[in-house]
Parts: sequence; structure tokens; C-alpha cells
Amino acid sequence: MSLKISKTVCKMAWLALVLLAVPRVAAADSISVRFAFTLIHQGQVGVVLITGTDLTSATATAMGHDYACFPVTQGTACLLAVPMDQPIRDYPLSIVMIPKSGSVITWNSTFTVAAGQFISEIVTLPGNLAYLLRDDVEANENARLASAYSMITPTRYWENKWVLPLVGAPGSPFGTKRLYNGSIARRHAGQDMHAALGTPVLAAASGRVVLSRQMDIHGNSIVIDHGWGIYSEYAHLSRRYVVPGQLVSQGDVIGLSGSSGRSTGPHIHWEVSVDGIMTDPTAFMQLALPS
Ligand SMILES: [Zn+2]
Repeated sequence: MSLKISKTVCKMAWLALVLLAVPRVAAADSISVRFAFTLIHQGQVGVVLITGTDLTSATATAMGHDYACFPVTQGTACLLAVPMDQPIRDYPLSIVMIPKSGSVITWNSTFTVAAGQFISEIVTLPGNLAYLLRDDVEANENARLASAYSMITPTRYWENKWVLPLVGAPGSPFGTKRLYNGSIARRHAGQDMHAALGTPVLAAASGRVVLSRQMDIHGNSIVIDHGWGIYSEYAHLSRRYVVPGQLVSQGDVIGLSGSSGRSTGPHIHWEVSVDGIMTDPTAFMQLALPS
């Protein structure tokens, strides 16, 4: 009899232990982290998808950068933007997840950064534009744009696949290694598109305008915040039709193409910044982003 009671107590104690353990173990075990890429090229973006449980927040850390993650229909998505000059090799990735129930989970893995396909160009600027190659002018403009790109808006303003901002011929691609006037090296942080002066320029995706002004190098420029730390910029315009704070829809005409700033002919310079990192706009618009 005493043996039977002892066994029952034992079973109850075991059951209590299992029940106590279930929430934490289940939360950890049910989480699935998946790469939507096999490798990421320099200057491009890879999507990491976390499914299996609701998270309060998640942050991915790689290459010395913390990437915010955002809720999507299937779970949570993190966008790993790789700088164009990131050395080619494998990198550790750590994701810290805070579930709505359960304790903090840290997930570790590695991923590969592969070489981007970048070309070289020799550019000659006329004497009246040569001052736009000065380091202080470049630094001042980069700082202004970096400031515009730095805020991370949790709201996702866009839904549809991105569209090209202009009907025209593709020009100098993202990441081009340029040599100006025989001696000054610069990287090209956007995609150029050539079109006749005054060609309508469209918002590539819906968002909120955060900058609309004349700048030294980029000329007449517009920056749109698309949410999730994603921004697009449209530069060298002849006209701007939007003001900061204005909401725009995908396909809205926001300005006209021009040749303002450090430009030698009518075109637009189109930039995309993700989490403060300049990325290839053409590759980004082809990226399958979870909704
Ligand atoms: Zn350009």
C-alpha cells in the first residue's frame, strides 16, 4: 500500500514538473528561424523570417550592426542589409527574441556575404562643378542624408511590390567605383536612370516624405520614409511637387527629372537605404518581402 502511494506521489510530482516546464520549453521549441536566401551579396538585403510564436520584439545583430525586426503575417521579419564594401566572408548572426510569454531566447547562426557585381567608371566634371568633389561638401551632404535615413518608423507604409520611379534607360548602376577628374574616387550609392528633362518621377512605393530640398551634390532631392527603416531618395530633379510630412502613394508623381547638383545631363539618381545602409535599389525592388 505504501509503495502504491509512493508511486502515485511520484507520478504527480513528475506531472507537476512537466506542466511547469511546458510553457518555457514549448515557446523555445516552437520557434523557427528561416533564411529566405542562400547568401547575401554586398549592397543587397536578405530576409530572415521567425515563425512559431508571437514575439514582443526581436533584434538581429551581425557585422557590428543591430537590425530591428518587424511583425508580419507569418511571424516576424528581419532585413539584413549588407554594406557595399562589407568584406566577403561568413559572419555570425545572433537574434535576440522576446516572446510574449516565456523568457528571452537567443538564436545563433552564420551567413555568407558574397561579392557584388560592381563596375568602374571614369567621370569628367566641368570646372564649374568641380567644387562638388570637395571632401567637406561630400561629408556635409552624406551627414544630412544619413540623418534623414536614421529614424526607424515601425509602420509599414507600403503593400505592393515596388515600381521603377521613372520610365527611362538605366544608367550608372549601384556600387559603381568612380574616378572623377582623374584622381578623386567615389562610390555610387544609387541607381541612375536617364530620361528627357521634365520626365515624371514616381514614388517607388507608398510612404511619407521626410525631405524635399535643394542639396549641393544631389541637387533637387526628395526622400520618402517607407517604414521599417526603409527610405528611397530621388535626386537631380528639375521640379519637386511634395513637401516634408506629406503622405504619398505608390506611383504618385513627386517631381520631374532634371540635371541639378553634381550632374552632367538629365537623369535621376535613385537611392534606397535600409536600416541606414545604402542598398541596390534594383535588387531591393525584386526582393520578396513578407507582408
Ligand atoms: Zn547617381
